[in-house]
Parts: sequence; structure tokens; C-alpha cells
Amino acid sequence: MNIENLLRENIKTIKAYSSARDEYKDASADMVFIDANENPYQTNVNRYPDPQQTKVKTKLSEIKKVPTSQILLGNGSDEVLDLIFRAFCEPNLDHVITLPPTYGMYSVLADLNAVEIVKVELDKTFQPKVEEVLALQNDNSKLLFICSPNNPTANSFEAQKVEKLIKNFRGIVVIDEAYIDFSEQESWLSRLDEFPNLIITQTLSKAYGLAGIRLGVCYASEFIISILNKIKPPYNVNQLTQERALERLNRTDEVTLEVSKILEQRQILEKALNSISFIETVFSSDANFILVRVDDASKRYSELIDKGIVVRNRTTQPLCENCLRFTVGTEAENKNLIKTLKELS
Ligand SMILES: *Cc1c(COP(=O)(O)O)cnc(C)c1O
Repeated sequence: MNIENLLRENIKTIKAYSSARDEYKDASADMVFIDANENPYQTNVNRYPDPQQTKVKTKLSEIKKVPTSQILLGNGSDEVLDLIFRAFCEPNLDHVITLPPTYGMYSVLADLNAVEIVKVELDKTFQPKVEEVLALQNDNSKLLFICSPNNPTANSFEAQKVEKLIKNFRGIVVIDEAYIDFSEQESWLSRLDEFPNLIITQTLSKAYGLAGIRLGVCYASEFIISILNKIKPPYNVNQLTQERALERLNRTDEVTLEVSKILEQRQILEKALNSISFIETVFSSDANFILVRVDDASKRYSELIDKGIVVRNRTTQPLCENCLRFTVGTEAENKNLIKTLKELS
């Protein structure tokens, strides 16, 4: 599979902007830095950040067992996903394939980039219709988005199905693993090197508890990462974000503990939700949220708002009629949710 052929024409020959910090890299050296028109007076952030986020990537590389040359960081996964569109999709010509109901940003980014979206709904059990996806691909099918565990359905896709898609899709397969830390399934990272057309995205926004700093991570072949690196804004991950991310990555034991508490709470919440009279189905979850089908989602949504609880109403999404999505909160928040739901019954 020749990945270079999948690139947009203008990207094949594009030259990266060379920033001051790219041209002289050793920011820690005892040098006089008068190359970037910064204010020389100390604010702790008066200097431009490391454009390659070397420290963060080195730490991630240790944790995830992926070389730094196969990692790209962005201002949230949203930026990473946007870079992928820009690298591969010719506006008004190419298209991407999504598997609804799924994360809304794929179609927002497609619209933004003037790229058509072909939607192949999941089956009734929220699994991908593999044959259907493969049958409708053509030379303009550049990206296939697989979100697993999937938002908003909370389930993971069967590994066999995903593997078949990766092996037989002729474009790039993007597996969005935003919720992988909550999942019983293994990350596809361990098999990254088997598939030249595979991109895996993760984020520090969910399990790592850092949604506010905006840090998305992308793993792929060295070739794909080198392309995304060329087209990313030079200083796309700011200094404060790099510092906070590094602190947290140095204390992954805390993350592990929080994840285990969330998973324990998820189990308690699932059980309690099953006892609520107007909840018809509690879909099984492999993430930190639970999708439920109720009698009347919009009515229950407003009732919960009146009681001070904000949930996500997914009723307009395909296959999600009358569905609400609950994020697993703290023990106290979950108790409050259950108590309130009981009062509404
Ligand atoms: C929350 C979420 C993300 C995270 O996006 P960030 O921009 O990194 O905060 C990515 N993908 C899915 C499916 C999500 O639900």
C-alpha cells in the first residue's frame, strides 16, 4: 500500500515553515536568544514553546511503547483530526466514511474542509457493517473513522471487524481511542507497525483528567507523522499545556486509581439505572459513560435540568431514539443522579 499516493497533491510537495526554535533547537543551552523577537524579560512563558514537545513525547513513548518519531501532539484530538483531513482529503473531491451514531467532530471537520461524508450506520448491536463499508469504498474514500469505544454508544467494536476494515480499506483508517483507558479491549497501538494505513488518536481529555489543557495524541507510521508534522502550526501545543501534561504523565498511578474508581462506579450506576422504571435499556459500556433508552428522552432531559443535573440528550442521533448519555461522575454525583431518577419515576 503506497500511502504517499493517498496524500493531497499540494501536501506531497509542501515545505514546512521553519520556526526560530526549529532552526536552533537546544533551548536549554546557555546561549543568548535574540532570534525570535520575544520579550527578554522573564514571565516563565516569555519564550516560544518547544515545537516538537520533546519531553512530553519522550514520556509518552515510555508509557505507550511507541517511538517518539511515531507520535504527533495537537491542541486536542480535534486539531489532530483536522490535520489528518488536511493531509489526505482534496476538498470538493474526496470523501470520508463515518459509522454513525458516532463522535460529532468527524462530520464538523469534514464540512469545514469541504469534504463529503459517506455514512454507514452501525448495526442494531452498534457494531460496524464491515461488508457494506468495504463495498462502497472507491479511490476517493480517503479516511475511515472508527471510534472504539464508540461515543455515544459506549461499546467497543469487535477486534475481528476492525482488523478486517484496516486490512481491506484502501484509504487511511483512523481509530479514535479517546476512551481506551476505560476499555477491556487492548489498544490497537500494539499492532500499529503492522498497518501502514493506520492512525490511532488518543487524548488527555478523558481518563487523564486534563480536558482543560487541550492535548491530543496521534500515533502512526513515521511517514504519516512526518507529513502531519510538516503541516501542523509550528507552536501548536503551548508551554503550559506541555508542563501540565508532563506532570500528570509522571504520575500515571493517580490516573490508574481514578480510572478504577470510575469503573467501579460505572458498575454501580449500571445496576441502579436498570431499576429505574422509565429506563427501558441500559446499553453495556466499555467507557466512562452509559447510554440508556428511556420512555421520552426530551422530557426526561428537561426534568433532570430542572433538578440541576445536565446529561446529554442523543435522541436525534441515528439508532439513538429516546437515548440519554450519562457520564460516570463521583460517587456522590452518581448517588444524586440515582436518587433524582427515582423521584422522577
Ligand atoms: C471527548 C472525545 C475526544 C476528545 O477530544 P479532545 O479534542 O482531545 O478533547 C475525541 N474523540 C472522541 C470520540 C471523544 O468523545
